[in-house]
Amino acid sequence: MNRRLFLRSVAAISALGAAEFAPWQAMSAFAEEISDFVRGPAIKDYPLRQISKHVWIIFTPDAFPTPENQGMMSNVTFVNTSQGIVVVDTGASVQIGEMSIRQLERSLKKPVIAIINTHYHGDHWLGNHAYVDRYGNSLPIYAHPGTIQAIKGIQGSLWLTLIEKATNQASLGTRIVPPNTPLEHGAVLKFGDVTLRIHHYGTVHTPFDLCVEVVQDGVTLVGDIAMDRRIANMDDGSYLGTFKAYDTLVKKTGTRIWLPAHGEPGEHVLKWNRELFEGIYRPCEQAVKNGLPLEEAKALVLKDPRVASRAKETRGFEANIGKYVSIAYLEAEAAGF
Ligand SMILES: [Zn+2]
Repeated sequence: MNRRLFLRSVAAISALGAAEFAPWQAMSAFAEEISDFVRGPAIKDYPLRQISKHVWIIFTPDAFPTPENQGMMSNVTFVNTSQGIVVVDTGASVQIGEMSIRQLERSLKKPVIAIINTHYHGDHWLGNHAYVDRYGNSLPIYAHPGTIQAIKGIQGSLWLTLIEKATNQASLGTRIVPPNTPLEHGAVLKFGDVTLRIHHYGTVHTPFDLCVEVVQDGVTLVGDIAMDRRIANMDDGSYLGTFKAYDTLVKKTGTRIWLPAHGEPGEHVLKWNRELFEGIYRPCEQAVKNGLPLEEAKALVLKDPRVASRAKETRGFEANIGKYVSIAYLEAEAAGF
């Protein structure tokens, strides 16, 4: 089978899957068969960095998937416990998963004992494939029940295809491995010397985001509910939900370092993101109150000092700000009723 024929078959299977079966099952069986001879190349090693006593990341400087970065666009996090490694968000491909396993087996010299996927966007779970290949299908992969459903449904095949296209097929061979263990707000997971507390505060970046508090370290892994100098995908998110979640997380956790999946960890990640979002949402709210149309709301947002001061350093700003203003405007309209 040549590559073109392969891609046409994927599209056909995908369409069939959506109508008749759980798409991930059809895709998985098919992808497994062909992955031996149609597979993207291995990805280069990215350095491993220690954030706190138990938390390590493979940091990525890139914000979006490209053929050059082969989909390496989000940080992979390892929590190093006395029982083994807990991986939070596994990256956008089997190749990224394999690179992460190479790194952790070389440096931390412990097996992976669990995975947590913070939400259903593909750069946070498509790497799961590599871990079940290495550690077996009984490896617990935790996520919010809504995330599990989304990955087993249309979001799973959508993200697989999206990353393949964006990387010019560098991620080929990646199989959809949905999380297998539901995890909800308030759960406490103990792994030897480390306690993880799970937080979920309704719709923030998606309806099902989980944050993982590493209690002993004062570090909270926020997934995509906050980013550092990158604009977030808010298609399924909520600005008001974001403000509420930040307030609650600050109150309920003893966090010193906020660790986002995109950008640098630090003390001020929530603050930076909140000001950007306030600068987008509040002018829209005002525009709706004053009966101004969307175009005028957009002009107000671009003039807002909280937005203007961040526009240049925020990756994805130009391409996305128009869309995010309309999402904020619609949310403000809905909140007005
Ligand atoms: Zn995301």
